[in-house]
Amino acid sequence: MSSVLFLVDHSGGKVAKAAAELATFAKSIGESIAVVFASNPAEIASQLNNISVDKVITATGDWDKYGPAAIADGLAQIIAAKKPNALLITSSAAGKEIAARVAVKTNSGIITDAVGVDKDLITTQSVFGGSTTVHSAVTTGTPVITLRANSIEPVATTSAAAVEEFSVSISDSAKLATITSATAAVKGGRPELTEASVVVSGGRGTNGDFKPVEELADALGAAVGASRAATDAGWYPHSHQVGQTGKTVSPQLYVAAGISGAIQHRAGMQTSKTIVAINKDPEAPILEIADFAVIGDLFNVLPQATEKIKARKA
Ligand SMILES: Cc1cc2nc3c(=O)[nH]c(=O)nc-3n(C[C@H](O)[C@H](O)[C@H](O)COP(=O)(O)OP(=O)(O)OC[C@H]3O[C@@H](n4cnc5c(N)ncnc54)[C@H](O)[C@@H]3O)c2cc1C
Repeated sequence: MSSVLFLVDHSGGKVAKAAAELATFAKSIGESIAVVFASNPAEIASQLNNISVDKVITATGDWDKYGPAAIADGLAQIIAAKKPNALLITSSAAGKEIAARVAVKTNSGIITDAVGVDKDLITTQSVFGGSTTVHSAVTTGTPVITLRANSIEPVATTSAAAVEEFSVSISDSAKLATITSATAAVKGGRPELTEASVVVSGGRGTNGDFKPVEELADALGAAVGASRAATDAGWYPHSHQVGQTGKTVSPQLYVAAGISGAIQHRAGMQTSKTIVAINKDPEAPILEIADFAVIGDLFNVLPQATEKIKARKA
């Protein structure tokens, strides 16, 4: 039977939704084996009981002093011991660094930013701003595949997966850089942009006033995104920029308010499942990819939408 390892994403002691998505992909291929690198592995492992996990491997050793290079050492050792058919990792900056290092260490092929992987390990990528879909497969070693968040609806199950400890030894090269301190970023109440299932973004059309964007986001339980015009103007932090030089999001619903839809913006959101555009200009390029559009002033449209959503919830 095929088996697939996946690296469990977590932060602040909580397993991320992206981990449940990787588990769902892994389970669709074969036995799903979660690999946990955490300073509190038991706490993280206990949260894996409601996602598609058959086995849990928790890494022990002093890998956490050294970061991605040491995690890659550990994953390469687990691959050598367990001989899985593939390793899945979330397509975050850290995830891609770890994936690249594991691929080098195991002499394996790597595919990044996939939005799907089937039971034959053929991946789907959406490239060139979403204008081209690529199917590819790794032909050497153990395929190392990074998957974008929100590419699959995670399946909730109840499992009581056995937990096994794996002692990781750190190579001298991984010890060349040491983490001296790590402080988790202070987060507001909104979900993380790349993980959110709904994103409401604002652009130059907000004229610097993101209040209606934030209010709609809060009514929908969404993350807030921004175009580069908005972040460059200092209206919203760069960490919220969506696009070629910002973050890539693939939510179930993406609302673009006062955003024209330049190719560089599309590159970061075109794989969203449903796109809603609010724009004064009926010719705005975003309308070419929008599933629904409201032609109008966002300062009229967004508050009305927020009010209706709140009324429905009440
Ligand atoms: C190398 C490179 C990388 C880049 N990377 C990125 C990136 O990562 N992300 C990104 O977003 N851009 C990026 N850009 C910039 C990109 O080309 C566009 O300039 C930018 O996306 C435009 O942002 P915008 O849509 O908010 O502004 P505009 O293009 O100015 O569009 C504003 C829109 O708001 C509408 N509007 C105005 N007022 C209202 C209102 N009251 N109500 C409703 N609609 C209104 C207008 O009709 C217009 O369509 C990059 C550019 C380059 C060259």
